Amino acid sequence: MTHEVVLLDGCKGFAPGQVLYSVLNHMAGIVGTIHSDKTAGQVDMEGYNVARSLVGQSVNSQRGQVEIEALIGNIVKHPFVQSRGRDARIIMLIPEDLYAHNSGRPTSWVHGGHFTHDGRDIVVISTNRFYNSGVFDPVHFKYVMTHELGHMYGATPKGRKNTYELLGVHCANDCIMQQSREGDGAKRRAHELHKNGITFCDHCKHEMVRLHRRP
Ligand SMILES: [Zn+2]
Ligand SMILES: [Zn+2]
Repeated sequence: MTHEVVLLDGCKGFAPGQVLYSVLNHMAGIVGTIHSDKTAGQVDMEGYNVARSLVGQSVNSQRGQVEIEALIGNIVKHPFVQSRGRDARIIMLIPEDLYAHNSGRPTSWVHGGHFTHDGRDIVVISTNRFYNSGVFDPVHFKYVMTHELGHMYGATPKGRKNTYELLGVHCANDCIMQQSREGDGAKRRAHELHKNGITFCDHCKHEMVRLHRRP
């Protein structure tokens, strides 16, 4: 079974896309072949232009941030996305900062996340907060991207053992699927996992294998 992915990279630089490329390879080692319509981290004017128009449709110019609910709604309606197979998962990178409208009680959404809307599986990540004084932190970005793709490929379903519910279902093991802390805590945790070579624990790995590699 091949997993189709549609990439929408709205970033000017290639560094985030190149990290995504390595994360997709890592995921493919667990869930099986992942076929993306373009190679992550390389020039893709079509995907870039689609991403830029989606950002333009979804930006709140007063806040200077992109509204996540508007963006998700616009992604599923976009002709480019609609022309792709219904099974294709969508991964979008944007350089703009995100916020959630949250029914009139706006909250900062920080990094983005995994969403299901209109039968589509979507991960949107803002690269904005992975830059410190203009320097990109690939380790922190890899940690968040792998975590969200773990949600996308079902690492922590409701009711699985060693999980808990806090802003979605998360893993209680020493694992990348623990609830990611905000700010510096998340960054420190990302570097600690990286140093120790930890991504998914065995429970999370087995769950994804079970879901995606059934004979
Ligand atoms: Zn999570
Ligand atoms: Zn886990």
